[in-house]
Order: sequence, then C-alpha cells, then structure tokens
Amino acid sequence: MFAGHLGAAMIVGSAARRVNVGLLFVAALWLDIALWVFVLAGWEAVHIPPDFMATHQPRFDFAWSHGLLAGALWSAAATLLSYRLLARGATGRVATALWIGAAVFSHWLLDALVHVPELPLVGSASAHVGLGLWRHMPLALGVESLLVLLGLWLFLRGCGLSRPRRWTLATLALLALVFTILGMTVAPAPPSAQAMAFSSLLVITLLCAAAWWSGRTAQRRMPRSPRA
Ligand SMILES: [Zn+2]
Repeated sequence: MFAGHLGAAMIVGSAARRVNVGLLFVAALWLDIALWVFVLAGWEAVHIPPDFMATHQPRFDFAWSHGLLAGALWSAAATLLSYRLLARGATGRVATALWIGAAVFSHWLLDALVHVPELPLVGSASAHVGLGLWRHMPLALGVESLLVLLGLWLFLRGCGLSRPRRWTLATLALLALVFTILGMTVAPAPPSAQAMAFSSLLVITLLCAAAWWSGRTAQRRMPRSPRA
C-alpha cells in the first residue's frame, strides 16, 4: 500500500488543521521510510520472489520498521517529539501531537489489512500477522482508492488552501494512486532491493516536499492559551 497511506494522512489532516499536510505524509509513510533506510543499511531485507509478476508482492523481513511493537514505539516517539517541538502553551498541543502519532500508527494498521501474514508482532521470530487483502487485488485497490478519495474530500473541504495548492495536492494524491495501481498490477520486477529502496526514498522525498509546499498556507499561527 502506498497511496492509501496518503489518504489516511489527509483524513488525519482534516481533524488536525494546524499541521502541514506534508508533515502528515511523512508521518503516515514513516514506517516505509524507516524500511527503505534499513534495507540500504542491511538491517532489514526485501526479497523479489520468482512469482513476482503474478503477485507484485515482494517478501519482507522488516521487524524494526513494521513490527507491531516497533510501529507502536515509532508512533509514541512521533507523539512525544511533536509535543516537544510544538510551542509551549499552544492551544491543542496535546491533540496535535496525538494526531501526528496516529498518522504514524495508521501505516501499520493499513499494512496489516493488505499484507499476507508477514508483519511480526515483536521480532522476526515472533508470530506474524496480516489479513492478506492483496490476495484479492481488485478489492484491495478499490479500498485503497476509496481511502485516497475520502481523504481528499475530507481534507480539501475547509482547508483554507489557495486553488493552485489544492490542485497540486489533489494531483499528487491521484498520481500516487495511479502509480500504486500500476505497481500492483503491471509494473516489471525491480532490479534489486537496493534499487527499490533508492527509488522509493526518492519518490517519498519529492512527494512529501511537494505536499509540504501545497500545505504551507494551511498552517496558522497557534494561538496561545490565556494562561500561558
Ligand atoms: Zn509499509
């Protein structure tokens, strides 16, 4: 899943209006950012199976980025870091930090929905979970498309962004959806795990930078609470 995570980020963004949507994209994709960095570092592994062209599903060994415990810890760390970085006394400081943490954990929940049972609960030797919606690819891609459309609809209503920025964000999300669908249906096998990691990190960086630009004017100064 890729574009569906952006849908989740925008759903969170519709409730956490003070957070730049580009930052929420980073949060919702954080487990994948960690995965690809760890693959390049040799700490996690991605295997391209011989039947890749039939399933379009690599096999993952990714306890540090995508384990349930790891996902909960990444989410808690994002919540604490956001709380620390937000202005002291800012209205909604706790809620905003919790929303950013929720965006991080949404990644694990959505991956657990689509992946075959390969997400470890703790370490690589622990039990693995995954509801395997990718075994029913049209259904999985339908759910992912709905997430993106729902996220766009909820976020763009009342976001306060200028028209060019709204169009940029919608174009980014829909392009991500098109590439997700192509990637899960007709794309050729990647040449190597390293190439997959490099290209994924490049795409995520460009996407989040463009989303951050389109979300800039949505940021408002956080009003101080009267007691601060
Ligand atoms: Zn993932």
